[in-house]
Amino acid sequence: MAYAVLKQGREGRARARHPWVYEGEIDVVAGDPKPGDIVDVVDHRKRFLGRGFINPVSSITVRILTWIEEEEVNEEFFYRRLTEAREYRKVVAAGASCYRVVFSDGDFLSSLIVDRYDDVCAVQTAAFGTDVRKTMIVGMLADILGVSKIYERNDVRSRELEGLPLQSGFMMGQFPTAFWAEENGFSFWVDVERGQKTGLFLDQRENHKAIAPWCEGARVLDAFCYTGGFAIHAAGYGARQVLAIDSSGAALEIARLTADKNGLGDRISFREGNAFDVLRELEARRERFDLVIIDPPAFAPSKRTIEAAYRGYKEVNLRAMKLLAPGGVLVTCSCSYHMRPEVFLQMIADAAADAGRSARLVELRSQARDHPILLGVDETHYLKCAVLRMS
Ligand code: SAH
Repeated sequence: MAYAVLKQGREGRARARHPWVYEGEIDVVAGDPKPGDIVDVVDHRKRFLGRGFINPVSSITVRILTWIEEEEVNEEFFYRRLTEAREYRKVVAAGASCYRVVFSDGDFLSSLIVDRYDDVCAVQTAAFGTDVRKTMIVGMLADILGVSKIYERNDVRSRELEGLPLQSGFMMGQFPTAFWAEENGFSFWVDVERGQKTGLFLDQRENHKAIAPWCEGARVLDAFCYTGGFAIHAAGYGARQVLAIDSSGAALEIARLTADKNGLGDRISFREGNAFDVLRELEARRERFDLVIIDPPAFAPSKRTIEAAYRGYKEVNLRAMKLLAPGGVLVTCSCSYHMRPEVFLQMIADAAADAGRSARLVELRSQARDHPILLGVDETHYLKCAVLRMS
């Protein structure tokens, strides 16, 4: 078997079971492997560290799948990993019909994402090793999940770093790619072809539900609402009035239909615009809310952009705080992996100090449990969701 020898002193990450082996950590690759082939990762004394697929084009050259020397990476291995992922969801996503079935490194299947929306699956293979095996993977998913409708969402930019084309389309069956599905008992419009991510922000499923205790009779603001994830839940949980903002007219059109579909249209109003501007305008009009939800897109797509992102997050949180009545609740999120949880909390504290307010942390939440966080692999912990009581 081909193998990659790590430079002396560079084996720490692999030994600590981080699955990514960077180009710069590798001394030499022996055995002439093709992209996607399985290779052993060994230290400079040829001692086994892990086994995974290689792509010489990518700066993440090897993605380790197992740290057990006796474990072969063959068809059975993938079937076993996918089955384990499914079994885990039977517990952490019990009762949900839409959930993430496979979360890449969090399920020891680096670069593979599988989301399920009822009987439809959306699949993403973001590295060569999973991409060359996608037909096999699709067949296994059909068997394990009992689905026959599978759609490819490989239009993510990260594929370019792997030398893979951006593409999407049917992988198994032909079916309507947009439909109603259920989350926490509410109906949402899923569009696996054109929606953000693979259709819905499944990582927010538990956070959507976590706002319930703060909604009864409340006046709620949902900034960055997309198709209404938080807004619909807030109204359904008894909010008296919800204002939902997004810069995307297309998302708002769906959000409106969704409000009506759930019989909540009379309590939610929508506003198309830049949340930064709309929040400023609401402040100028001295509007007050009992609950404000801030769920912006990733402001820090890379480490380089973290400082600008910090300012962006701080500004929008500061504006949100100014709109909250004393005792009001702020639910604030960041899906930027580069914004680490401790930095995120510092940003909130800075915003509170500038606003002249005290922020009591009620809960620090993260992504839904069907997006498992692997300790030591920070990349798997990307979503932060803080619930704060402002005084
Ligand atoms: N809260 C949503 C997901 C939000 S995704 C849910 O739970 O489902 C982020 C959203 O922010 C996207 O819909 C995007 O259109 C919107 N957005 C991005 N920049 C924005 C801006 N400056 N002002 C308002 N909305 C913006």
